[in-house]
Amino acid sequence: MSWKLSRSNPVRYSQAACALAEAFQGGQDCGFALHDALLELGLLNEAEHFVPHDGGPACLPGGYCLIVAEILDQAQSHRRDFP
Ligand SMILES: [Zn+2]
Repeated sequence: MSWKLSRSNPVRYSQAACALAEAFQGGQDCGFALHDALLELGLLNEAEHFVPHDGGPACLPGGYCLIVAEILDQAQSHRRDFP
């Protein structure tokens, strides 16, 4: 995925962001909480993805989301690194 490869600085997502991403993927309507968690990490673009912005709709919970996928992917590799 080019979006992933284009990142020059891998981000370390917080545990709160990982938990919320998991819930979001499971269909829970926690986009605003996820927005706040990402904002705390300084990830403005990623945060905006989960709330309505620029006249566009927010990402909907339960579907496939590239950002959620990346957060969860990193959470899993983190668990692999530190069992
Ligand atoms: Zn999305």
